[in-house]
Amino acid sequence: MEVKEGKTVIYACFGGFSNTGITTALASMDAVKEVGLDKVCIGCLGGLPVNVKSVYENTDKAKKIITVDGCPMECSRKTVENAGYQIAKSIVLARDIGMKKKSLYEGDEKSLTDNVDDEEVKKAKELIVKAILEE
Ligand code: SF4
Repeated sequence: MEVKEGKTVIYACFGGFSNTGITTALASMDAVKEVGLDKVCIGCLGGLPVNVKSVYENTDKAKKIITVDGCPMECSRKTVENAGYQIAKSIVLARDIGMKKKSLYEGDEKSLTDNVDDEEVKKAKELIVKAILEE
C-alpha cells in the first residue's frame, strides 16, 4: 500500500545488535501508534541502498523525513542522505536522551526485553512525536 501524500516518514536504524538500536524501533512504533498511521509511517531503510522503487516512491511523497538512530554511527541518517533525501530532523538516542550503548551480541542473556529500558523507550517516543508534530 502506498503512503498517502503528505505523511511524515520515520527512518529508524533498527539496529538489533544493541539496546540503542532496538529502542529506535520500539519508540518509532510507539510514536506511530500515538500519532496515527494516517499522519506518519515507518520507512523501509534497507530498501534505499538497494534501490527498491516503491520505497523511493513513498519517500518522494513524504511531507518530511525524520531519522532515528541509536548511536553516533547514525546509520539511518547516513543511509537516507546517501539516497539523496533531505532530513527534517535527526534524532540520535545516545546524544539526545543520553543512552548508553550496550551490545546484545556479546553476553549470554536470553531476554531481549530485559535489555530495553521502558523509560528510555518512552523518552525516545516523546522526542519522535515532537518531531512529527513540529511544522
Ligand atoms: S546507528 Fe548505531 S545502533 Fe543504529 S544500526 Fe547503526 S550502529 Fe546500530
